[in-house]
Amino acid sequence: MSHVSIDGAKCQGHGRCALIAPEVFDVDDLGMGLVLVDEVPPAAEADVDEAVLTCPENAIHVR
Ligand code: SF4
Repeated sequence: MSHVSIDGAKCQGHGRCALIAPEVFDVDDLGMGLVLVDEVPPAAEADVDEAVLTCPENAIHVR
């Protein structure tokens, strides 16, 4: 399983992550990305990979 985080200094709140992987990401009241889970469920890993590639700010990190 992998751990995912959002770099709040880079995130500009486009919200694409929450659209692509809503089981893992949400947006706060200002539209900034939030991570909902400590560990990425195996079924969501492909969506998270897509979110990483799609984030315009390169703000999502997986390890
Ligand atoms: S897609 Fe990237 S910039 Fe947009 S809310 Fe998600 S982490 Fe932030």
